[in-house]
Amino acid sequence: MKDRFSLPEGMIYLDGNSLGPLPVGVTERIGSMLQNEWGAHLIKGWNLDNWMGQPASVGNTIARLIGAGQGTVTMGDTLSVKVYQALSAALKMRPDRRVILSDSGNFPSDLYMAEGLIRQLDRDYELRIVAPEEVATSMEDDVAVAMITQVDYRTGRLHDMEGITKAAHDAGAVMLWDLAHTAGAVPMDLTGCGAEFAVGCTYKYLNGGPGAPAFIYARPDIVEGIEPALAGWLGHDAPFAFEQNYRPAGDIERMRVGTPPVIQMTALEEALKVWEEVDMADLRTASIRLCDLFIAEVEARCPALTLASPRNGAERGSQVSFAFEHGYAAMQALIARDVIGDFRAPNIMRFGFTPLYIDEDDVRGAVDILADILDNRLWDRPEYHQKSRVT
Ligand SMILES: *Cc1c(COP(=O)(O)O)cnc(C)c1O
Repeated sequence: MKDRFSLPEGMIYLDGNSLGPLPVGVTERIGSMLQNEWGAHLIKGWNLDNWMGQPASVGNTIARLIGAGQGTVTMGDTLSVKVYQALSAALKMRPDRRVILSDSGNFPSDLYMAEGLIRQLDRDYELRIVAPEEVATSMEDDVAVAMITQVDYRTGRLHDMEGITKAAHDAGAVMLWDLAHTAGAVPMDLTGCGAEFAVGCTYKYLNGGPGAPAFIYARPDIVEGIEPALAGWLGHDAPFAFEQNYRPAGDIERMRVGTPPVIQMTALEEALKVWEEVDMADLRTASIRLCDLFIAEVEARCPALTLASPRNGAERGSQVSFAFEHGYAAMQALIARDVIGDFRAPNIMRFGFTPLYIDEDDVRGAVDILADILDNRLWDRPEYHQKSRVT
């Protein structure tokens, strides 16, 4: 599938877990959309070019990739907003409980959104953060919702979706999964696991481009009971009736808020075509093989680095992290040599492996350069210690 992506010549791109590369076809599609849809049709595009229906149709494509049914996923906003919506809806489902359970491996934005929501509600809610290993055993009977990100952004540790969902349900809690680093990387059966909510972004493994819209899933049997916190007009049952009062749509559309980002949505729609030819089980096998090879090569040739990811492929997402005291500078030195990973404070060098466009030669090539940088202390130059705004 490598030729389906427009990657710069000579670059080894190990950051598709943070921002996927540009799929071939997106540039042309966006050009055509601008000219033939927006340019030629103007406001008629909402009907003529199905702009209004896109959140549902793109949602259906995502649904297939995450093991959800048709009509259960909608698109829009960013992941942080979708976390807020799902979390507030989940709390409403358990009015006599006061705890949001999460773990210390969760991405800060999810935790911040929970904090903000708690302050807003001002009704003694508590965000209880436990160690990742303790999530399943921390489902006390005061937990309203377990808000868990399946793959740890720092270490790549993969949570057992079925086991944790079952533990949450046994304790009477609502389950909310964040699939940011799972969708497009790890096969899953969302319907089968029975979680009430799932959210995720589409600019990571799904290659939708910077700022691509997020997705939200709600289990079909609970949708009609959801009280949307962000009661925007496009989540209304009849937006163009312009009624005075809010009346939510009967299906997942009630989790829409306002006008969808049509240009980004179109880029995502085009980017998702790649997945029509991908078998998720094959992808997962290839991902584990690439990650295992990277770990073996780095451990053999770069003794200063310490593995910060689970060694067992079954317990990992599609990324490998190594701890290194001078990780930031070493990553800058790597990037200067066109091997792109990223750095996560305080000392994590993070590498994403995306089998659609990364192969074993890339893995070996990246470790050749990494070993050279470490052996010769090439990272220890002033320019590599300069912190940028985005790391
Ligand atoms: C990437 C990521 C985000 C980012 O949220 P945005 O609103 O899209 O910026 C949030 N949560 C998790 C778990 C992530 O991995």
